[in-house]
Amino acid sequence: MFNVIRTQPAPASLAARRSYSDGDVIIELKRIFFDKCYICETKDPLSLNVEHFYAHLDDDEKKYDWDNLFFACARCNNIKRHHFNDLLNCTDPAINVFRAIRHLPPVTPFSKEIRIEATSVDERSQRTAELIRKIFNDDNTGNKEVTGVYLRKRVFHQYSRLLRHINTYINEDSLPAERNDALGRIKNMLGDDQEYSAFIRWAILDSPALLAEIGVDLP
Ligand SMILES: [Zn+2]
Repeated sequence: MFNVIRTQPAPASLAARRSYSDGDVIIELKRIFFDKCYICETKDPLSLNVEHFYAHLDDDEKKYDWDNLFFACARCNNIKRHHFNDLLNCTDPAINVFRAIRHLPPVTPFSKEIRIEATSVDERSQRTAELIRKIFNDDNTGNKEVTGVYLRKRVFHQYSRLLRHINTYINEDSLPAERNDALGRIKNMLGDDQEYSAFIRWAILDSPALLAEIGVDLP
């Protein structure tokens, strides 16, 4: 997960309380969520949509509340629905959602499970980890085209890019320019705006020597 800075005021169309997914809402959500699903971090313009953090259950206060509107993919939206109403809020600046949920990347594209762990025992962290675990490991929910198998492969491909850059950076036969380029790419992959950044950031965070070597600060 990644933190999002919610802009204010709310997009103008919400005031009319006719639609919560007009163009101005979509454009602003897309921008502040870096065009990523806030749960699985997939960038997929065909499936990203407006999601209610607290299920609205036809309550207009929740339905058109800008603070309750999140950007999520169809699959995560479908799995979460009204079943997970007590998650960590990534738009709350007081919560570091990245540190709260440890994401361990798959070892191969065919790994049958991805490990997702809460780093503390509070209810919201536990429930958030439970949902993310379900998203990446459950192959029988939601959209048939996008399954846990598909997501695990996508995460692996991103992770394998990181490994390639790390190899270039540490290989003794790399040229200075190649090492420099690899370092820039590693740093770039750690950005909140990058796909599956939680997996990439945890991979680096779990390697303190590398973290010190590349000299980045992971909040
Ligand atoms: Zn998603």
